[in-house]
Amino acid sequence: MTHKLIDTHCHVNFQAYKDDAKDVIARSLEDEIAMITVGSQSDTSKTAIELAEKYDGVWAAIGLHPNHLYEQKFIDEQELKANAFVKTRSEKFDFAYYAGLAHHPKVVAIGENGLDYYRLPDGDQAQMKEDQKRTARAHIDLASEVNKPIIVHVRDAHADQYEILKLAIEEGKLVRRGVIHCFTGTYDEAQKYIELGFMISFTGILTFSKELQAVAKELPLSSIMVETDAPYLAPTPHRGKRNEPAYVKHVAEKLAEIKGLSFDEVAKVTTENAIRFFDLK
Ligand SMILES: [Zn+2]
Ligand SMILES: [Zn+2]
Repeated sequence: MTHKLIDTHCHVNFQAYKDDAKDVIARSLEDEIAMITVGSQSDTSKTAIELAEKYDGVWAAIGLHPNHLYEQKFIDEQELKANAFVKTRSEKFDFAYYAGLAHHPKVVAIGENGLDYYRLPDGDQAQMKEDQKRTARAHIDLASEVNKPIIVHVRDAHADQYEILKLAIEEGKLVRRGVIHCFTGTYDEAQKYIELGFMISFTGILTFSKELQAVAKELPLSSIMVETDAPYLAPTPHRGKRNEPAYVKHVAEKLAEIKGLSFDEVAKVTTENAIRFFDLK
């Protein structure tokens, strides 16, 4: 199968697609856009694998999103059934459970996981940050054990996240490294991750954020991948609507414009990057 583009991070396994995941995936694959559908906790990690088993051109990642470590005030109806949410809203990382999923041949990465200090609930926030760090290290251990890369979700926590990754690499872990997904940091932050051997991935935020465009312009294309993070973050011209993997082409188009390259060149290189990085087969 040929892939024109790969949406390296979407959530077609979420409730937002409960009625039409089939159509959404078909639209994307007909357009030669493959995808990696990403779990955010135990349920959605499992449904990610179930979808990946059904389709050529769909792979899965499994992990526990940092926002799912404790009870949340917001309820994301895009993501989970209401009753599933009640059951799993505060989940601890069950290493054995995730290890059981991690060996699946269509699981190409461990995550999404990382540090998210942006949306901490009220309470002992220092403790919450410690919990996030401990869980991040556990994901790194799992990824190292099964020799797969990690998908890092990091928001308002780049300094701590960088330290965790650097230390793990010094300890001989994370041979396959990882990707900083939905990157929204500065050029210097991106550059530090790249020096560690990490990839940087951009969502539709790139289509409307001038600051992020300036960062992407300076980064080497060999370290860049594209994604949607669908159902969230729809790119221009679909802002405010439900996102879907086929829209990753708008991210690639913007990247081409920023870098003064053709769409085809950007599509080719970012796709090769994804195939190499995730070892997609
Ligand atoms: Zn994320
Ligand atoms: Zn995500």
